[in-house]
Amino acid sequence: MPRNQQIVLEQRPQGAATVDNFRLVTSDTPPLAEGQVLVRHHYLSLDPYMRGRMNDSKSYAASQPLGEVMMGGTVGEVIESRHPQYAVGDKVVGMGGWQEYSVVDGGAPGLLRKVDASQVPLSYYLGAVGMPGVTAWYGLTQIIEPQPGQTLTVSAATGAVGSAFAALAKARGCRVVGIAGGPLKCAYAVDELGFDACIDHRAHGDLKAMSQALKAACPHGIDGHFENVGGYLLDAVLLRANAFARVALCGMIAGYDGQPLPLLNPALLLINRMRVQGFIVSEHMQFWPQALQELAGLVVAGRLRPRETVAQGLASAPEAFLGLLQGKNVGKQLVKLV
Ligand code: NDP
Repeated sequence: MPRNQQIVLEQRPQGAATVDNFRLVTSDTPPLAEGQVLVRHHYLSLDPYMRGRMNDSKSYAASQPLGEVMMGGTVGEVIESRHPQYAVGDKVVGMGGWQEYSVVDGGAPGLLRKVDASQVPLSYYLGAVGMPGVTAWYGLTQIIEPQPGQTLTVSAATGAVGSAFAALAKARGCRVVGIAGGPLKCAYAVDELGFDACIDHRAHGDLKAMSQALKAACPHGIDGHFENVGGYLLDAVLLRANAFARVALCGMIAGYDGQPLPLLNPALLLINRMRVQGFIVSEHMQFWPQALQELAGLVVAGRLRPRETVAQGLASAPEAFLGLLQGKNVGKQLVKLV
């Protein structure tokens, strides 16, 4: 059995995460028991939610245990199988974690899913046609419930979730305005992702500047907003929201290091009779097949072809993860392992 490089959580962050929070170890892959499969990971997914799991605080999901392999989504290939439903060579997506190989119980529901990499690139099953894509789909269709011609906004617009949101919202005939960090990301949003406009939050770094930019980009106000960041961006959106606007509260990455994110003017929720709803995509598994089907269709049709930022080798994962939290990624942040 192959030797397996792994990254474990060494210590919990105090404030911002650092590379010292992680440790690279090597172990032997155990021999397979009946019903198990051995997967060689091709790509590891890095996601903002992992920052929350590094804390030992109350949340919707259990904390990442210290000394154990960091949890995370993976795509790879079955290289040995003692389960009748999996054959050597099958491409699979699962939660293999920050390591090169994983041994998986092939019969356990939801742990491993076979995927077809002939029309959709394998790595996309961690992004556009994976959990981030479904996240965008759920918030858009089940919370924002857009009508053609409405104006929608999304923060972290060029990331894994934001880029899928743009394609899904454009497919429903909406005007879609993104908020992203820096002129290059904003140009990419408009030129490649199909956004109608994109506002650079680095050039509009306070509430007044952001709300003015939103007014210019959304002349008919905002009917639906998909929030990934929080803080003054959300305050600015509320100032421009139309009556009965909906907000899908997906992430608040501006506060993941523990900063409070107070809402400046919650009376706007009442004045605008708004609906604001938080959600966790893994609690809505019944929608995944429908969402994945639409997302795959957009990819195959060439209407959702987001960029990826790919770090090389498992040892690069901590640095790449910190870069994701700082906005250094464009599109889905991955680590290539093969
Ligand atoms: P992204 O690929 O969008 O990467 C994170 C991005 O957040 C960065 O690139 C950066 O983009 C932006 N960002 C980071 N810090 C700040 C800040 N202080 N102010 C403004 N922008 C910031 O990640 P994902 O697409 O994977 O995730 C997007 C959001 O969705 C996250 O909040 C995540 O936690 C959430 N999420 C929630 C799920 C759920 O079930 N509720 C499931 C999956 C994701 P930029 O440079 O443009 O600012």
